[in-house]
Formats: sequence, C-alpha cells, structure tokens
Amino acid sequence: MAEWRAAVGAPEECPYGITLHTIPPFDRDAYMRHRKQHQPSQQSQPTLLQKAANFAAAAAQHVAAGAPMASEAEVQRRHDICTACPHFDGKACGLCGCPVARERKWLSKLSWADQNCPDDPPRWGPVEG
Ligand code: SF4
Repeated sequence: MAEWRAAVGAPEECPYGITLHTIPPFDRDAYMRHRKQHQPSQQSQPTLLQKAANFAAAAAQHVAAGAPMASEAEVQRRHDICTACPHFDGKACGLCGCPVARERKWLSKLSWADQNCPDDPPRWGPVEG
C-alpha cells in the first residue's frame, strides 16, 4: 500500500477533499480515476503574449482555409465541451488562451469550422464549414 501511496501522492493533496477516508486505500483504480478527472491542469497558463500569438496563428489558419464557419449546433456542441473541460478557466481555454464564447461569433475559435481543441487528444476537431 505504501507503494501506491507514493505513486499517487498523499491523499490530502486532493483539491476536492476526497481522501482515503472516502475512497478505500485499496481501491487504487477509483482514486486514480478521481485524480485524472479532477486534478487541476499541471500546465501553466499561457502568457498574454502567448495567447495573442496562439490566437493570431489560429486566425491565420482560419483565413488560409477560406474562413469556414461552423453551424450553430456545432458551436453549441463545442461550447458545451469547453465549459465542462478542466482546462476551461471560466472565460477562456487554459491551454491556448483563446476565448470560449458563443456570442462573439467572428472572434471565437468555436465558430471556426477548421479549428480544433489544443488538448492531446483534442476534445473537438474540425468540421465541414
Ligand atoms: S479548447 Fe479544448 S482544452 Fe480548451 S477549454 Fe475547450 S475543450 Fe478544453
């Protein structure tokens, strides 16, 4: 047991307060699933400069692709995925820094059919525009 405790870290590290008192110590798989689902991203947030560069690169790619727009249903689907994503910070994607907004259609990657989520693997991808 000490072996897996060392592998997953001390239970009090869990930001959601789930400890060995609520998940039996022998249920390692449940604990690992919990950590994977709820542990905040270990990746640092992009700087303002990185965000601007990411957005500019996405915009350039979008224009080069002929500026195809996603359907309202696809924008809604992507929005639902993003707002449930652990990388979403309440306003923008924590990985690329691009805004997650349905309203600003022409300034939102969610509306650009050729774009994809920057996560690995991507949580959503390009569609026909
Ligand atoms: S673009 Fe991808 S990683 Fe970023 S918030 Fe949306 S689903 Fe999450």
